[in-house]
Amino acid sequence: MPKRRFSALTESQSRNPQQIKEKVKRSELFAKKVFNDEKMMQFLTDEAYEKVKAAIFSGKKIERKIADQIAEGMKAWALSMGATHYTHWFQPLTGATAEKHDAFFDLLPDGRAMEKFGGGQLVQQEPDASSFPSGGLRNTFEARGYTAWDPTSPAFIYKTTLCIPTIFVSYTGEALDNKAPLLRALHAIDEAATGVAQYFDKNVRKVNATLGWEQEYFLVDLALAQSRPDILMTGRTLAGSAPAKGQQLDDHYFGVIPARVLAFMADLEMQCTQLGIPVKTRHNEVAPNQFELAPVFEEANLSVDHNLLLMDVMEEIAVKHGFRVLFHEKPFAGINGSGKHNNWSLATDTGVNLLSPGTTPMKNLQFLTFFINTIKAVDDYEELLRSSIASAGNDHRLGANEAPPAILSIFIGKQLSDVLDELEGVSKGKLSPEEKTELKLNVVGKIPEILVDNTDRNRTSPFAFTGNKFEMRGVGSAMNCAKPMTVLNTIVAKRLNAFKKEVDTLIDKKNLKKDEAVFNVLREYIKTSKRIRFDGDGYGEAWQKEAQKRKLSNNKNTPQALQVLMSKESVDLFKEMDVLSESELKARYEVELEAYVLHLQIEGRVLGEMVYNHIIPSAVVYQNELLQNIQGLKATLGNNFKSISEPQLELVEKIGNHLKEAKRLTDAMIEARKKANAVTDLHQKASAYCNDVKPYFDEIRNHVDKLERWVADKDWPFAKYRELLFIN
Ligand code: ADP
Ligand code: MG
Repeated sequence: MPKRRFSALTESQSRNPQQIKEKVKRSELFAKKVFNDEKMMQFLTDEAYEKVKAAIFSGKKIERKIADQIAEGMKAWALSMGATHYTHWFQPLTGATAEKHDAFFDLLPDGRAMEKFGGGQLVQQEPDASSFPSGGLRNTFEARGYTAWDPTSPAFIYKTTLCIPTIFVSYTGEALDNKAPLLRALHAIDEAATGVAQYFDKNVRKVNATLGWEQEYFLVDLALAQSRPDILMTGRTLAGSAPAKGQQLDDHYFGVIPARVLAFMADLEMQCTQLGIPVKTRHNEVAPNQFELAPVFEEANLSVDHNLLLMDVMEEIAVKHGFRVLFHEKPFAGINGSGKHNNWSLATDTGVNLLSPGTTPMKNLQFLTFFINTIKAVDDYEELLRSSIASAGNDHRLGANEAPPAILSIFIGKQLSDVLDELEGVSKGKLSPEEKTELKLNVVGKIPEILVDNTDRNRTSPFAFTGNKFEMRGVGSAMNCAKPMTVLNTIVAKRLNAFKKEVDTLIDKKNLKKDEAVFNVLREYIKTSKRIRFDGDGYGEAWQKEAQKRKLSNNKNTPQALQVLMSKESVDLFKEMDVLSESELKARYEVELEAYVLHLQIEGRVLGEMVYNHIIPSAVVYQNELLQNIQGLKATLGNNFKSISEPQLELVEKIGNHLKEAKRLTDAMIEARKKANAVTDLHQKASAYCNDVKPYFDEIRNHVDKLERWVADKDWPFAKYRELLFIN
């Protein structure tokens, strides 16, 4: 039998790590490849520059004449940077990014060649994109999708292509992507938060939602990753026995980054810097081979674009360094999965973080207003927010004994809980002068500024206040942050609108002073949103019970979690806030369900192939070796062979039993898949995959992993966890 196992050191591992020397200062390279403010000033006419700045501020449309001027400037800059092509860069509902490159090069009618790029090409394109998921919004025969320029996210050059961030909409203007609804939600929060912020500062004209994500990922040796059908096709391992050493020693966390990985990171950061992605921190995560990268936070739309761009760039650079990067939420059983914390806040154009406690009572009242409104919004729509992070991959984390739980709750820490408790005790209506003084000086005025560094970090909380921002921790590592950000900003906008109405009514009708009115409404919100606040252990059994008592949702799988999208409450919310029409929402619901089904279908198929084409044949080879050995012993030793060949026989049997079970369960899984495939209703189909097909995966895996333990290493067909997980 030829040795089929690869040596532990693969070609890509043994290659010398490419040493990238960080000679140039990062700040000098920053945004070199971005058509940002500085480049616009340089390459645009004054008129075009002013118009584009105004459009970015207000979201208003840019006239065609101006678009032509901007395109001219953009082209000049792009050509000067060596770009040869341009593309509209967009975010179809697949969750990834898409692009279709066109050359600047064009022929004039008289046959002369020139580089062409006008306002028309900048503003709108019609990619032949009929195969992107649209949830039935766009019948291929009647209308195509259009991409339209998003001037709020600057164009950039990737390799030799000018990339223009765009939204992707149908002929009738319905959103076919993740960016269009995000922009609408950001517009809603801008209007709502500006209105409320003006209670405290009349000069506020605009409020931006800010987002700082933290991207977790795994690196696996490229050659080994390619050798495994599961990693290759699904981005995760469907089988694999736990290695002798996993993450139990916690020796990887914040440990020394291996040289080969460091070279990859340096290269990646260099690229990111030039693309204007402000990456700042990098470190090892808890699991072996797991890492995290986080940038400085930015305006949410730009931040989402930068995260998507980063993921694309990472995949490419990883390959260059002989790695495959895994963004899957749970690539390895028994080892921590990956998430993407979304740090979120609101910032005014006057430079104030609305979720940052300040030095004066007034600033702190402003802080409390946005703080409590956010808590109330999440309480109102906790199930909807949970739905925004539902996916087949993330089901392995949420609700599956991994951080964080599927129940949404908010952690605010003891100090702020005490403040809210005191505020709750404030009397209704007009406040006595004593009460006012007490409130201003001793409650609001005392919110410590040191909070920022001091907030107790409850790592089990899915939505934690961390000093000057909220951190949403359930987002999956492979996800487009636009989805949770759309929901979060929409629900907070809705709440702020309602808040303003209530406060104004108290001022107008009840003759209350502004801060009295604010206190009154906040007090009610504190009372009615209590159930969402939880500072205890989010992983414990006790919390599951307590959450049920509080009537918080606990949707542990995607089909269940998505259902709330079609509730009247959700439909009304998105319609009222002008974020998604009912048909757009329904389309999204269908696309998500479909994606879920497809993911599980592919996993099921790959697992079936692995069992039939790889595992059974390999186990049989080893079984045969054992049998030959037993025969040999018999031929040599005659009747004495029995006691000597006992261990071999025992192994033959053990392997036989696990083979039998693995095959039986695989056949049953294939049957269940067939049945699920025949279901026509999409939600029922997804549920069938969830409840009838998926449970087989772990059962099959259980026997496969046992086989991995008994079959000779040289006969095992897959790279093992110890080979995949420890890069040196
Ligand atoms: P931890 O890992 O402990 O959560 P990090 O320092 O890694 O903390 O992450 C903090 C993240 O919060 C960074 O990505 C940062 O950009 C982001 N952040 C900080 N301030 C804000 C803010 N005002 N709005 C949005 N994100 C923020
Ligand atoms: Mg974090």
